[in-house]
Amino acid sequence: MASKPKPYSRDERSPKPLNERVSKYMRSNKSKNTKPEILLRKALWNAGIRGYRLHWKKAPGKPDIAFPGKRIAIFLNGCFWHRCPKCNLSLPKNNRSFWEEKFSRNVERDQEKITALENENWTVITIWECELKEDIRTQVDRIRNLLATST
Ligand SMILES: [Zn+2]
Repeated sequence: MASKPKPYSRDERSPKPLNERVSKYMRSNKSKNTKPEILLRKALWNAGIRGYRLHWKKAPGKPDIAFPGKRIAIFLNGCFWHRCPKCNLSLPKNNRSFWEEKFSRNVERDQEKITALENENWTVITIWECELKEDIRTQVDRIRNLLATST
């Protein structure tokens, strides 16, 4: 019986990860100052892009990066937690129903944030962690182009 996973309780806490891959992803579940976020901020800085706010509370959904003057909001999504359509990572094998519920809540919440921002005339960009890892320049260009064309 020792190997049987404990049933999860229906609160916000995740069950203890049972393998290294899951626990690695779970460790990366910090909402602020994640590694991809720091990388992107550094790249924006190097590209001379300034004037953004981090986790700006005045914008709906507190986007990771917000350019208030241009009403441009950027979400930087971890592929595991936000269910990147490109990566399509498999669900952890244990506590499946917990994960399904948790992930669908995350995806739902992401969509709600985008809708709330768009309703207030924000332009929203979602950047996936894998896109950033693959080619950070392309993402910086994407932001730069949008800034240049927004009034
Ligand atoms: Zn991905």
